[in-house]
Amino acid sequence: MSRIAFIGLGNMGGPMASNLAKAGHQLAIFDRDVAARARLAEPNMQPARGISEAVSAADAVITMLPAGQHVESVYLGPDGVIGAAPVAALLIDCSTIDVATARRVGERAAAKGHDMLDAPVSGGVAGAEAATLTFMVGGEAHAFERAKPILSAMGRTVVHAGSAGTGQAAKICNNLILGISMIGVAEAFVLADKLGLEPQKLFDIASKSSGQCWSLTSYCPVPGPVPTSPANRDYRPGFTAQMMLKDLRLASEAGLLNGASSPLGSQAMQLYQLMDNSGLGATDFSGIIKLLRKPE
Ligand code: NAD
Repeated sequence: MSRIAFIGLGNMGGPMASNLAKAGHQLAIFDRDVAARARLAEPNMQPARGISEAVSAADAVITMLPAGQHVESVYLGPDGVIGAAPVAALLIDCSTIDVATARRVGERAAAKGHDMLDAPVSGGVAGAEAATLTFMVGGEAHAFERAKPILSAMGRTVVHAGSAGTGQAAKICNNLILGISMIGVAEAFVLADKLGLEPQKLFDIASKSSGQCWSLTSYCPVPGPVPTSPANRDYRPGFTAQMMLKDLRLASEAGLLNGASSPLGSQAMQLYQLMDNSGLGATDFSGIIKLLRKPE
């Protein structure tokens, strides 16, 4: 069992850290929000007063933070992980952040002799609680092998995507597909309604035809056909429109920086922005159908 420092104990990090403790690892935990620290109380968890105290004796450091600037400050800032953690410590950032920051922090870690991985997740809070997350991991193969047993205590699927930054690349490419496909499915249900086609009939037919996709069959944006989808609980998240917006922004920035055009990604981003502006940002992203149904 390893000594693991876990930094960022929010909606995702809290249950992930609990699952590591339940798997028998010894945890030093830190969050700048005292309340987030106090929520966790597994017997083999030790709250730390700062980042350097949390990481000073760690075999591995895991971070689960909101965005690139937080990751940059936690790793590179004064009292940061790089500098305070033992050189042998494996560093794993599970936050969803921009590829450029992930690569920059990874390079700084490597220059200090650390193995570092970017390992963003899919599966949401429910997946974090149930230890069924999917990890998309970028970094050296030997570092991935070191991380596998640790990540497996928090998830069901752990995939090596390639070199540093490719975990983040996989995450934003996946969510680019998801953000666009949800709008396509929602538009189809709005049109079906106008044409007098029952939602359940459209579902039965499209889910067995070429319109079949995850947004339709696992996360259907109308109530009824998929009882577990957020549409059945008035679009309580799930995955909020604001989070989808964040990921589409990351995809858009990466496209601009690297010369990949994504006209539909840009349109999708505008629509989720509109959803946010309409006060629906904290609802599930599949609630985009409400926006599409609004009279002109
Ligand atoms: P959150 O806001 O609930 O938690 C982030 C935590 O980081 C907070 O407790 C905050 O206090 C802490 N933090 C911020 N800066 C810090 C610092 N400098 N030092 C110490 N702690 C600091 O966010 P979340 O929902 O847990 O998401 C975390 C990451 O996971 C994000 O990058 C998000 O995009 C990604 N993600 C979230 C979901 C989801 O469904 N919530 C799904 C997949 C991926």
